[in-house]
Amino acid sequence: MIYDLHSHSTASDGVLSPEKLVERAAKKNVQFLALTDHDTTDGIAAAQRQAEVEGITLVPGIEFSTLWKKQTIHVVGLNIDPTSEAIATGVGFLKQKRVERTERLAARLEKCGVENALHDAKRLAGEGNIVTRTHFARLLIERNLVKDSNAAFKKWLGHKGRAHVAGDWASLTQAVEWIVASGGQAVIAHPGRYRLTRTKLMTLLGEFKDAGGEGLEVSCSSHDRNVRQNMAVMVRRFGLKASVGSDFHVPGYPYIELGYNLAIPDDLTPIWQNWH
Ligand code: AMP
Ligand code: MN
Ligand code: MN
Ligand code: MN
Repeated sequence: MIYDLHSHSTASDGVLSPEKLVERAAKKNVQFLALTDHDTTDGIAAAQRQAEVEGITLVPGIEFSTLWKKQTIHVVGLNIDPTSEAIATGVGFLKQKRVERTERLAARLEKCGVENALHDAKRLAGEGNIVTRTHFARLLIERNLVKDSNAAFKKWLGHKGRAHVAGDWASLTQAVEWIVASGGQAVIAHPGRYRLTRTKLMTLLGEFKDAGGEGLEVSCSSHDRNVRQNMAVMVRRFGLKASVGSDFHVPGYPYIELGYNLAIPDDLTPIWQNWH
């Protein structure tokens, strides 16, 4: 059974439509796919329809942007109810935060000579969709200002970039509460990517668990074997459940593919323990 519980569509910063994403997951033999777009549930209905066609299970999800001790932490919600009041509140709150961040970031870029940054980032995101830094990266590539998205983040959009604007997101506790109130399970996404010290990671996991958080992504495309082992240790220590997800955004990278390389140690309790 292949589970992939973290993926993106055009509703946020993925390049495949929800339908195409589900089609691809089925081709890769994924039986349980969670669509977890950044701060939106807009792709879920279409993904669910396609999952029925393909005969696989679509797990309704989201990836909330949160701020914890001045650090951006992503919290995935699995089996959320997209029609619930709690999720609607969360999505509404973050939509507003994103509009503000997008405008500030575009203003910085325009000040650095990147004309029409706001207009073009919105165009690249698509009518009505949220705008992320990924769209600004695509814009910088389109203008030949950088050669790839790595360079876009390094030179412009990342921590030390010329146009960096810190997002003012939801609190960690708040995001976990939205997820749990909607009947979902909260999972810390790609914990290895935050470069936290061991002590700080343990503080994060303690607060997360106290807020009602349930899972930790152990296996994901940004974790090497060593990080996976360390995260498995944390799962055991904090009595969490293990989650897995490719964080797929775009085809063409064999090591970041739907359902690819997502095994977890046998002794861990998987987040899907009580699903069926
Ligand atoms: P945002 O939530 O708008 O700050 O955008 C964050 C998104 O940018 C992440 O979900 C990634 O998809 C992408 N991203 C962040 N850092 C990098 C990087 N160094 N290279 C490529 N993409 C990145
Ligand atoms: Mn992304
Ligand atoms: Mn993320
Ligand atoms: Mn993601």
